[in-house]
Amino acid sequence: MSDFRSDTVTQPSDAMKRAMLEAPLGDDVFGDDPTVNRLQEFAAEMLGFEAALLAPSGTQTNLIALMTHCQRGDEAIVGQQWHTYRWEAGGMAVLGSIQPQPLEHQSDGTIALADIEAAIKPDDPHFARTRLIALENTTGGRVLPLAYMREVQALAARHGLRTHIDGARLFNAAVAMAGTGGGDPVQQAKEICRGYDSVSLCLSKGLGAPIGSLLLGSTDFIRQARRIRKMLGGGMRQAGLIAAAGIYALQHNVHRMADDHANARLLAEGLSQIAASNSRLRERAIAHAANTNIVFFDVDAALADDVLRHLAENDVRVTAGTQRLKGQAMKRIRWVTHLDVARADVERALRVLAAF
Ligand SMILES: *Cc1c(COP(=O)(O)O)cnc(C)c1O
Repeated sequence: MSDFRSDTVTQPSDAMKRAMLEAPLGDDVFGDDPTVNRLQEFAAEMLGFEAALLAPSGTQTNLIALMTHCQRGDEAIVGQQWHTYRWEAGGMAVLGSIQPQPLEHQSDGTIALADIEAAIKPDDPHFARTRLIALENTTGGRVLPLAYMREVQALAARHGLRTHIDGARLFNAAVAMAGTGGGDPVQQAKEICRGYDSVSLCLSKGLGAPIGSLLLGSTDFIRQARRIRKMLGGGMRQAGLIAAAGIYALQHNVHRMADDHANARLLAEGLSQIAASNSRLRERAIAHAANTNIVFFDVDAALADDVLRHLAENDVRVTAGTQRLKGQAMKRIRWVTHLDVARADVERALRVLAAF
């Protein structure tokens, strides 16, 4: 079976499980789990922040960040497609009483600076108080340009706004940048985060840990965030079991993401050949170039369910959502490469699809 549904499906390796079993444990709500403390210090140092906080999920670290930056009646500027707005069950509004101001994306996944600037509300009782700009990097697998990260940060500083990065796949961005520009992925990750008030990072995606996300920020920010985490039910006890996997992941699984990106490129090239040559898919499917570890394959909606059934019958697992492209109804099939997808799995999936 080849599981391309998400980089969240990875199983902890034997070495990672061993690290979990051997980790010294305490009670993290009392702040005395040595392994949790070690993970938090290690990650903060790695990414250039003063402090970090472990939580069960990236949805929770994002929500904790939003609720720490914003008070009731404040507003957060977000992307229309971003996780913080679209994929977190409306948490910031429901639980935080924070007004999201979603903005449309440009084709490269960024939000135009002029659109952000225009969305910032003046200090007037008619309006919510614009408080935070939250970016997402990578977004849909795309890396936001470093120059753009700097520009948004400068814009926020000019308007006295806070800044948060949803860096669920921060290290995919860093590894991709190191691949094209040279340099060390960890250094690149630090560079992406530089100047931002907070970052959320998933240990349970490409890094291959079973559970956990980190929120990073200043000492004072994390102190406040700890109270919000408790409020949301995210205070865990012998959480060193999870943290040990996180430490292992940060130490061993960052650089190897370059393999996932290479597999994604191979997949995208193969899908593109199939879209051009397969008699049923020709003119009815579009393969998009690989972005880090995510590849999109858009298929005519009338044909997509057959394609999805064919893949499922051949043990190739993917996810799909609806998509409109130039007025045409398409289904967007999403393929994600990760540590449990080998080059041979990509080759097999392409053979399966070619036989459609
Ligand atoms: C996966 C993801 C999250 C967090 O997801 P959880 O499943 O709650 O850990 C946040 N943001 C983005 C962009 C993601 O892809």
